[in-house]
Amino acid sequence: IYLNLKREEKNIPIVFVEEVEKIGEHIAYFNYSNLVIFTDKMVYRLYKGFIDSLKPAYLYLFDEGEESKSIESYLKAIDYLLDSNVDRRALFVAIGGGVVGDVVGFVASTYKRGVRLIHVPTTLLSMVDSSIGGKTGIDYKSYKNQIGTFYQPEMIIICPKFLETLPRREILSGLGEIIKYGFTLDKSILIKKDKFENDVFKIFQDKILAMQLIKKSINCKVKVVEKDEKESLLREVLNFGHTVGHALETYYNYYFSHGIFVILGMIAEMILSNMIFNFDLSNVDLLIRIFEKNSIKLPQRFEKSQIISIMKYDKKNINASIRMVLLKDVCDYVLGYEVNEDILYEALDRFEKIVL
Ligand code: NAD
Ligand code: ZN
Repeated sequence: IYLNLKREEKNIPIVFVEEVEKIGEHIAYFNYSNLVIFTDKMVYRLYKGFIDSLKPAYLYLFDEGEESKSIESYLKAIDYLLDSNVDRRALFVAIGGGVVGDVVGFVASTYKRGVRLIHVPTTLLSMVDSSIGGKTGIDYKSYKNQIGTFYQPEMIIICPKFLETLPRREILSGLGEIIKYGFTLDKSILIKKDKFENDVFKIFQDKILAMQLIKKSINCKVKVVEKDEKESLLREVLNFGHTVGHALETYYNYYFSHGIFVILGMIAEMILSNMIFNFDLSNVDLLIRIFEKNSIKLPQRFEKSQIISIMKYDKKNINASIRMVLLKDVCDYVLGYEVNEDILYEALDRFEKIVL
């Protein structure tokens, strides 16, 4: 056990294993009627041998991609479980990225009022972010995560070996969240930041560095989740880069993987932090070089006023004022800062000149 996450009297072990073959040993520790494994078609194609070796009583495959977080996809999985007579003493194992984790989390928390679940995150983003904290959810009417629950798994099993097959855009996406933890909660994540600018594949080929980054990131998320009640004050810090990031993500219709929009959002929010709190803008250089090295370019110009109106309707903004996390310095943050629209417009103008 790497550490125990404590939520409402429950200890949730976060376990690290070096080889995928070791995952089964941790699952075997539980008593259950049937083992039900959920994954997506891509992950199954890549890890068929390993998944079959776990000898699940039932194996359910989602299509890969965000579409699997639809209500239809959720109901299809529920139908499958009902048709198979799966009872509530079953053990569910979600093997995959944040999509599989979120939808299976929601299935597990609602099927027969709750079935035990183990998360086996296979993307960098799901290892450092979505598998930790107990948020589950599906999308509804083209809005993300509108229906969901808080549901803690029995265990989270992290195996960095899964990263070896992950495409560049998904590595970058997870790296975006890792860098966010570095700028908000743990400076030491940024110590080897010059490596982030090199080939992103190299960072995670360096087993020791990869492990350090993943563990430090998980520590950040655990610390915040443990301290905070369901989505209130401190958890807000995890939204650094996300206010502008989400607006761009919506505007560009999910053109990049999520964490890449977070990197863009952090650039814009650092510019704002500079204008309001004199935050040292040289911190932006790292983020820009990551984009340059990976030839990431926005597909076309954006309409600043439209980005601002999308932000106004962000669910996190009470009374349609635009609030966000800003930085005075690295790891010295201000939560819920209400940003004036004129300043935001000017910041987006500067941001555009940098990223386009
Ligand atoms: P994802 O689950 O869509 O995975 C990305 C792609 O990588 C998919 O095509 C998948 O098939 C593939 N893949 C997964 N593992 C692989 C591997 N080891 N090798 C090769 N390919 C692999 O994306 P994601 O970024 O992991 O998750 C995004 C989702 O997570 C979003 O729906 C988002 O809303 C959600 N999320 C949830 C939380 C939370 O707290 N619950 C937090 C952040 C994000
Ligand atoms: Zn995020």
